[in-house]
Amino acid sequence: MSKRDYYEILGVSRTVSEAELKKAYRRLAMKYHPDRNPDDKEAEERFKEVKEAYEILSDPQKRAAYDQFGRAGVEGGMGGAEGFGFGGATFSDIFGDVFGDIFGGGSRSGRQRAYRGSDLQYNLDLTLEEAVFGVEKELDIPTLVTCEVCHGSGARPGTSPTTCQTCHGAGQVRIQQGFFSVQQTCPTCRGAGTVIAEPCTRCHGEGRVREHKRLKVKIPAGVDTGDRIRLAGEGEAGVNGGPPGDLFVQVRVLPHQIFERDGADLYCDVPVSFATVALGGELEVPTLDGKLLLKVPPGTQTGKLFRMRGKGVKPVRGGPPGDLFCRIVVETPVNLTKEQKTLLRAFADSLAKSDKQHSPQEHGWLDGVKGFFDDLKSRFKQAG
Ligand SMILES: [Zn+2]
Ligand SMILES: [Zn+2]
Repeated sequence: MSKRDYYEILGVSRTVSEAELKKAYRRLAMKYHPDRNPDDKEAEERFKEVKEAYEILSDPQKRAAYDQFGRAGVEGGMGGAEGFGFGGATFSDIFGDVFGDIFGGGSRSGRQRAYRGSDLQYNLDLTLEEAVFGVEKELDIPTLVTCEVCHGSGARPGTSPTTCQTCHGAGQVRIQQGFFSVQQTCPTCRGAGTVIAEPCTRCHGEGRVREHKRLKVKIPAGVDTGDRIRLAGEGEAGVNGGPPGDLFVQVRVLPHQIFERDGADLYCDVPVSFATVALGGELEVPTLDGKLLLKVPPGTQTGKLFRMRGKGVKPVRGGPPGDLFCRIVVETPVNLTKEQKTLLRAFADSLAKSDKQHSPQEHGWLDGVKGFFDDLKSRFKQAG
């Protein structure tokens, strides 16, 4: 089953109203309903998908959880491979043989046409370092693989599917409805033209078995949250010789202790003592591949950004690397001793007596405050 966004599946925006949501669901459910699309595996998948999306989004609590945490919020486990798997009941189990009743109960062992396996999504969390430098990961994926006993045929080894007796291999039957003769897909073999008389005991005729597959994946350097890596053919096995689906590895980069990432650029806060920024000096700053010296000029203010060119992330899609921005955070000293307090007071006195301007922002700020109060006063006067 694909793991597309529920809103996307229903073709609605994230702010959709309940009424609009219902409308969208009705329209899609009608379109993909199995009665309208007999033997169409694709439509069957769509229908399941639409149904699941509506079940979640129509429940305010589940919708809220989904908005916040995505599928992890509405499924059993959090993230990782646990987002996989469906309840066990397949579509055919739920709806039964739609036409079976007409014919007085067709055989359920009918062999189906070849279908492509479903796509899978794997949510992969990476550290910033892994995302930036690339990494090889081993994934554990619960999936459907081709049965190794019958090699996907569904028939017990030594036997093979036989020609369907209902349609004599045509896959289609004509039924009489009143005056009309209608051509329909054969209910016994579901259009395949063959049936399995002796099903494989390992897969019970399905040709596929549920298994955990271990897979090594090379994550390229520079990936970011939201990137999706497609592994062609690594999804669920196909049915009756159909091609397998694809595996999509959905990347999420975890928050980092020091760096904040914005595309190719990195940001980090550098706490600095008041004395260092006042006098100027050299700081050791972290980069992803070691430390660098940063020269800080005298009089550097808090919040000042220093750009280290090319010390960001090299984008996965090519192009020059981003920059590293070091944000100066001036720290107010704490736990002062008596002596330090005395020194600081003397220092403050010295600043006050000086005829030089020592606080570059204060003047502008005080002017701004004064202007604000003057405005306020004149507005009151007008009103009064
Ligand atoms: Zn088998
Ligand atoms: Zn048949």
